[in-house]
Order: sequence, then structure tokens, then C-alpha cells
Amino acid sequence: MLVGHCAVALAGKRFEPRLSLGTLMAAAVLADLLGFVFILLGIEHWTMNPGRAGIYAVDLDSVAWSHGLLPNLLWATLFAGGYFLWRRQAAGAHAWEASILFGAVLSHWVLDFMSHRLDMPLAPGLNGRYGLGLWTSVPATLVVEGLLWLIALAVYVRATRASKRTGIYLFWAMIAFLTLSWINNLTATPPAGSLTIAALTSLTFFTLLVAWAYLMDRVRKPEPDAVSLVK
Ligand SMILES: [Zn+2]
Repeated sequence: MLVGHCAVALAGKRFEPRLSLGTLMAAAVLADLLGFVFILLGIEHWTMNPGRAGIYAVDLDSVAWSHGLLPNLLWATLFAGGYFLWRRQAAGAHAWEASILFGAVLSHWVLDFMSHRLDMPLAPGLNGRYGLGLWTSVPATLVVEGLLWLIALAVYVRATRASKRTGIYLFWAMIAFLTLSWINNLTATPPAGSLTIAALTSLTFFTLLVAWAYLMDRVRKPEPDAVSLVK
């Protein structure tokens, strides 16, 4: 998934306006960021299938450390725990913020489980692979993931307001760019190339996405009545 993960970050802003969209985005795509780093380190591996499109463009041979359910629980704990320890000193207790980040990291496994073929592992060393295969149908993906995306956009737009004009431009540019990248991912046939280049390109894409979200958060402020939904 692509916009499905971003939807979690955007909706998270409504649940807790004090969280930066950038931190929420980093949480929602953490498994992918780790996955590309692990490929570059030689810990994980994909097989590229030149000429094949969408879900069949790559085989996720070994992704248990970045995309296993058990490691994801660990990454979620470390990410949320790290945030909590960092913020506690400066601004009081932030247990709710940390728990939303925990949920955002873990949501990655759930959404990938929905969309992937039978390639989502539970933990390193376990052979079972799971997935509901939503991505095998482009129309079904457009409906289900697209609906998640639209709902999250509506939620985010109601929860925040541009404090500068750049807040409007950055928002629409991000939405257009992500929607086009998503549709391209679903249908395009990636060119033949090395796995290292693909991982580097994707890591750059997701790092820029997180940076963009941090930037956008600085020029879009929570609506005055958008108080935390959990506290
Ligand atoms: Zn993923």
C-alpha cells in the first residue's frame, strides 16, 4: 500500500493534533523505510521481475525483519517509547501520543496484510506467509485503498487549516503527487534495474515524504476546535 499508509498518518492528526504529521508519517511508513535500509545492508532481499506489473513486479523473498508481525511490534514499541521518553521531559506526559504512534507503526502490517499476496511473514525464522491479496485486483484496490485515502483527506482537511499560503500549495502538491505515484505503482511495469538502485530510490522517496509531512505540519495548524479525540 502507499496512500493507505499515508491515510493513517493524515487521520492520526485528527486523533491527536499535538503530533506532527511528519512523526505520524514516519510511523506509518517505518516498516518500508527499514525494509529499504535492510535491503541495502544485505539483511533482506527482493527479486525484481522486469516486465511484470503492479503486485507482480517484485517477489518479497525475505522481508521478515522489516515486515514481520513480531518485529513490527518491536519497531512500534521502540518508536512510540522513544517518542515518549523524548517528549516527557519537555512537555509532560504524552502516553496517548505514544500509543497513537504505536498504532500507526503497527497499522503498516495490517494494511500490507490486506493488500499483499501470500508474502507477509509473522517473524524471522517462521515459514508461514500471509496476505489477503487486495492488490491482485486493481479495481478493488482503487475502491478500498482509494476510499481510505479520501476519508483520511477529508478528516485531515477538517482538522487543520493553512496558516500560510504554502500550507495550501504543499497540501495539494502532496495529494496530487501521492495519488499519481500510487496509481503508477498499481499499473506500471518498472524498468529492469538493480535492486540496490530500486531500494535507494524508494528510500529517498519515503524519506522525502516524511520531510514533506514535517514541512507541511509547520504551515498547517490544527483547527481551534480540533482537540485530541483520545484525551
Ligand atoms: Zn510495507
